[in-house]
Amino acid sequence: MIYYKSEEEIELIRESSLLVGKTHAEIAGLIKPGVTTLELDRIAEEFIMDNGAIPAFKGYGGFPNTLCMSPNEQVVHGIPNNNSLNEGDIISVDCGVLMNGFYGDSAFTYEVGEVKKEIQELLEVTKTSLYKGIEQAVSGRRLGDISHAIQDYTESFGFGVVREMVGHGVGRKLHESPEVPNYGKRGKGIKLKEGLVIAIEPMINMGTKSIHQHADGWTITTVDGNFSAHFEHTIVVRKNKAEILSSFKEIEKVLSKNNK
Ligand code: MG
Ligand code: MG
Repeated sequence: MIYYKSEEEIELIRESSLLVGKTHAEIAGLIKPGVTTLELDRIAEEFIMDNGAIPAFKGYGGFPNTLCMSPNEQVVHGIPNNNSLNEGDIISVDCGVLMNGFYGDSAFTYEVGEVKKEIQELLEVTKTSLYKGIEQAVSGRRLGDISHAIQDYTESFGFGVVREMVGHGVGRKLHESPEVPNYGKRGKGIKLKEGLVIAIEPMINMGTKSIHQHADGWTITTVDGNFSAHFEHTIVVRKNKAEILSSFKEIEKVLSKNNK
């Protein structure tokens, strides 16, 4: 069952989603060689609570932390720990919050220090594919148009599109219908209608699309050990152009300041 949102509900999802963006920005400047993912997790948790919200992932299905932190060959659902990040790593950070009864969900993959050119390309292509998907999220189009746009673009670079994990509806629940795969056929799937709020989240591997889950029950890594990137926005389907409810603006402000 799909719940289409009223304008009031969309505003609440926007507030939650913007807090997710601000939480990302809190840690974006701290992502450097030597920092541990657990330190970043604590900072994010405190920031979310200070803003009157609840970390969405902590306790979700038993997940132990506020952020999913997935370095390098980890695709998603990595558990923060005391290992330091190293120069040349990448770290995919997924964050969700619950505020005023509604969720927001957004992910960003960060570079740690100086990263190899081909890894930079993986990040750039994955982020661009997210926006290619969002471009299709217009009323009258089909869900498969979003999926196809992401798959078509990323595969043209020889990258692997993860099949097992997908985007999703967002609202009073973190994961609502429909599922939003990052692969699929144009013209297939449900017709998109105004008020449909979804998280679009390409998970793109440099090599094979195949993944495997660790014994911890959470961490997903690429089977071939190649790096993987993840970008996610919460958006609402509109008439002529989708509206992005989450934001990378605050993150990108911090990152550009750091690079000067
Ligand atoms: Mg997420
Ligand atoms: Mg999500």
